[in-house]
Amino acid sequence: MTPGREGDIYERIGVLRVINASGKMTMLGGTAVAPEVASAMAEAAQSYVSIEALLTRAGAYIADITGAEAACVTSGASAGIAQMVAACIAGTDTTRIERLPDVEGDRRDVLIQAGHVVSFGAPITQMIRMGGGRPVAIGWANAVTAAHLTGAINERTVAMLYVQSHHTVHKGMLDLATCMRMCNERGIPVLVDAAAEEDLRSYTSLGVDAVTYSGGKAIGGPTSGFIAGRKPLIEACRAQERGIARPMKVGKEQIAGLIEALRLDMIHDEGATTQVLMARVDRLVSALSGVPHLVVSTVWDEAGRAIPRVSLAVASGVPGCTAPALLAHLRDGTPPIYLRGHEASQGTLFIDPRPLADADVDVVAQRIAAFCTRLAGVTATPTQ
Ligand SMILES: *Cc1c(COP(=O)(O)O)cnc(C)c1O
Repeated sequence: MTPGREGDIYERIGVLRVINASGKMTMLGGTAVAPEVASAMAEAAQSYVSIEALLTRAGAYIADITGAEAACVTSGASAGIAQMVAACIAGTDTTRIERLPDVEGDRRDVLIQAGHVVSFGAPITQMIRMGGGRPVAIGWANAVTAAHLTGAINERTVAMLYVQSHHTVHKGMLDLATCMRMCNERGIPVLVDAAAEEDLRSYTSLGVDAVTYSGGKAIGGPTSGFIAGRKPLIEACRAQERGIARPMKVGKEQIAGLIEALRLDMIHDEGATTQVLMARVDRLVSALSGVPHLVVSTVWDEAGRAIPRVSLAVASGVPGCTAPALLAHLRDGTPPIYLRGHEASQGTLFIDPRPLADADVDVVAQRIAAFCTRLAGVTATPTQ
């Protein structure tokens, strides 16, 4: 099978372009990058450079932007977790670096609050293990107390991982400041997974030991990521490039794309962006209000970011008219449309306006309305 010559890049390869109303989802390709980012990547891909020099320069640039002592590029936030953990366990010791993820000695426990033990498409605990760590969940999925944390810290503890994400439980967990105070008193570094967060300075200014971000999520870069934090820890993160981070290496084009995306992120006007998103949301809400079986409203991001979304509560009680059915119907159509479905089992879907092209807004509204109207037609017919 050879690629065709007609249509867009995905058609030529033989797959369908997807309408993404779901978010910056790794399974849908992360981010559709800005033209400036795409051309930075194309330019970087076509010539040679010392990767060592490029990584060092990129790290200095990211440190500057995040306000951290130092920073380094990774292939993503999941690699960032593995590398941060490996850095805490192996440091810059070549023998230990080369032996990971097998570790000598007992000091490899990584504490994580029970409500933070999530999967973002892969289990977070596995990323800890890849770095040689032993994940130790503390407390319960709905309640973690200071006593749980105190009781868990011992001579085997090497770090604590704090996860900031919509995936985690938000009630009943210890906040980051408390974790930092309790861990730092005992010399335990606190590592933060802030994969999809927008604020690139808040964790550094709080003084966390290291924080990792995904380049392909809020930052709008290519598949990539970085770690920002204390200088010795970042040096140890970089030292893992001779070990477990090798299969997570980043190409020169990703590095160039990430830097360009960060530059754009710095100069972007958040107020203007929110206005564009609100306009999309308003258009969807007015197109969908009055559609049978739907309760449409505007909601703000559950993790506190400035992201408005359309909430679609699907009225139950009508056969076939459920949130999971609507989700599947849109996904299986042409072109496939992906909504945010993590609350589908509770009857609600969300439309994320960020990855949605303006040209696709009406298509999304029409396809949703068509599904619900058809079902309304069915129920209006009396069944004998
Ligand atoms: C997406 C995500 C990751 C993984 O990030 P990648 O850059 O895809 O490796 C890790 N943690 C959380 C909370 C995420 O949402």
